[in-house]
Amino acid sequence: VTAGARSGADVAFGVDIGGTKVLGVALDADDAVLAEARVATPHSAADPAEPSRGEVGGEVVDAVAQVVAALGREVHSGVGSHPPVGIGAPGMLDRRGVLRFSPNLQGAAGADIRALAGVRLPGTPLIVENDANCAALAEHRRGAARGADHVLMVTLGTGIGGGLISGGRVLMGAYGFAGEIGHMLVDPSGPPCPCGRRGCWERYASGGGLGRLAREAAYAGRLHEVVVLAGGDPELVRGEHVTRAALQGETGALAVMDELGWWVALGLANLTALLDPERIVLGGGLAEAGEMLLAPTRRAFADLVEGAGERPEVQIVPAALGERAGAVGAAMAARAGGLW
Ligand SMILES: [Zn+2]
Repeated sequence: VTAGARSGADVAFGVDIGGTKVLGVALDADDAVLAEARVATPHSAADPAEPSRGEVGGEVVDAVAQVVAALGREVHSGVGSHPPVGIGAPGMLDRRGVLRFSPNLQGAAGADIRALAGVRLPGTPLIVENDANCAALAEHRRGAARGADHVLMVTLGTGIGGGLISGGRVLMGAYGFAGEIGHMLVDPSGPPCPCGRRGCWERYASGGGLGRLAREAAYAGRLHEVVVLAGGDPELVRGEHVTRAALQGETGALAVMDELGWWVALGLANLTALLDPERIVLGGGLAEAGEMLLAPTRRAFADLVEGAGERPEVQIVPAALGERAGAVGAAMAARAGGLW
């Protein structure tokens, strides 16, 4: 099949605005990935010089337009051809495509993503949806949630994203804000969160949360080898140092992974009380730790969930589509005209 033959109305583009990168894919009519493109997220959460609220929405959507242009070149969609584009954005995105609140992309909060994208991509059919809802759709159609109609999709990355499948459909809520699970409080006197409160679930159970749990253990003298990996200073310990040391069987690092699994399971048990899922899919960068995270999470979940012995086992499985899930789901949503 030549590139030219692949072009046409059946192609759809999806772009996922992440905490560190803007990742796009082009899907063919069978939802197979034809091309991928990425750029760094402007003013990501890791950027200390992050401008204040609302100022960088335009720059973020510029990055989306760059990714769409790159995808267009890859699949030769051609001048005058405008495949539908789905954009996945992190945080509380309302039905009109305005990003109302976004703790992990604060500079873009308040931005009218749909309007900004409409100016940059004239003539393009556009939809804007929550990124984790897009990931849930993709895993439900093509990934680890296939065949299950009641699913909790949790992405453990910079923060925690959530997508809920109930009765085979993505649960949106009244205003589009359903599934903002990372900011459920698990400890009202816990560490401060970028959302302005204290002790949110994602302070404990995300990549950033792992780094924080690890630094606590390092200062307590329980993570010598991890501190060496981080360059000798406990303050420099990050999540990836822990997962690397745990892979090598380092006891202190494995203990921190157990602790992380407990915090992940606490949120999953609470959400199971609400949603009664048959399957829980864990995605995001942290889920790449695999069984090192899944095994302690399953053990703790069995202790924490209500009536564990009386309910059918809730499967806790890794996501299948990896870092592309959000972009793939955004493209699927674009083809369908949105998630609503
Ligand atoms: Zn929070």
